[in-house]
Amino acid sequence: MSKKVLVLAETRDGGLRNVSLESLSAAKRIVEKGEVIAVLLGSDTPQHISTLAQYGADKVYVVSNDQVNQYTSDAYTQAISQIFKDIDPDFVFMGHTAIGKDLAPRAAARLGLGLISDCIDINIEGNDVVFTRPIYAGKAFQKKKSVNNKAFATIRPNNIPVLEVDSSKTAEVIHFSVEIKNLRTIVKEVVRKAVGGVDLSEAKIVVSGGRGVKSPEGFSTLQELANVLGGAVGATRGACDAEYCDYSIQIGQTGKVVTPDLYIACGISGAIQHLAGMSNSKVVVAINKDPEAPIFQVADYGIVGDLFEVMPLLTEELKNMFVVC
Ligand code: FAD
Repeated sequence: MSKKVLVLAETRDGGLRNVSLESLSAAKRIVEKGEVIAVLLGSDTPQHISTLAQYGADKVYVVSNDQVNQYTSDAYTQAISQIFKDIDPDFVFMGHTAIGKDLAPRAAARLGLGLISDCIDINIEGNDVVFTRPIYAGKAFQKKKSVNNKAFATIRPNNIPVLEVDSSKTAEVIHFSVEIKNLRTIVKEVVRKAVGGVDLSEAKIVVSGGRGVKSPEGFSTLQELANVLGGAVGATRGACDAEYCDYSIQIGQTGKVVTPDLYIACGISGAIQHLAGMSNSKVVVAINKDPEAPIFQVADYGIVGDLFEVMPLLTEELKNMFVVC
């Protein structure tokens, strides 16, 4: 299919987000003879041009205006709209991240286009591009297509496999200047609450705790296991409300949505609002002392027991395994 797809290459702390490579992969699937065009916004982003090329971008638009060094809805919407008008792509893909969730509806509305959000799969069916997205808190899946095959879409991290890297591939680079006017917000500084470690939304392994963890110290035990596995720590709203951990790691309907390869749920009952954020995880392990806890209905492996006995054993055992390997 001859299509042009624009992909926002999102960076965080200077690094390229994995979901941007996944978005390139999704774009490649629907483009046969057309082009995949990545967009880098910010003066410190050109370092990522070769990576984008090697993961599927045919062209890379680089916008180095100072106003797009930090994300603001205003500046990014203006930049994406101007690039859109220059290229006239069929689709615009970006990650279903905090930035993507804010920017995509705004830019799509400004350009008079539709938005298909939170996609977990994108494929060609006949002459149409079909987008699959979870609905009803992940209990069902909906397939959508755009009436005129022209739309914005956001892609949920960790669902579409990244293409194999082709180190011989290069991309045409276009340095594009945008005109940013009437900015209503200026970001002076970004202060993050949770610093360091693995990014929760893109983590391949998540060790998550609920009210059963009982204290902030209990969450340190979870962090220890996450460190051994190279994963991130998540939590239920119950645990956040009880001040065992920060709301920035809440998973669920009103928190983050994660799709890791492995989700270890510790002392979590399995409320529907929590499942909404993690039920698409590839493998779920639940540790709960109540054999009737609903989390066991979505778990692939269940351990019925006291997490304060199970967790130290599990952490120790895994530490030894990784030392032996
Ligand atoms: P509980 O339901 O209290 O479960 C604790 C579990 O720990 C129990 O199953 C217990 O058997 C087990 N346990 C206790 N001690 C031990 C032990 N020593 N060893 C092993 N197991 C033990 N929740 C979210 O998580 N994310 C959301 O985004 C979210 N959004 C919401 C939005 C709305 C509008 C509403 C109304 C609610 C929302 N909630 C959300 C809250 C949700 O309904 C639940 O209240 C919450 O998920 C429960 O958290 P929990 O599993 O930690 O606690």
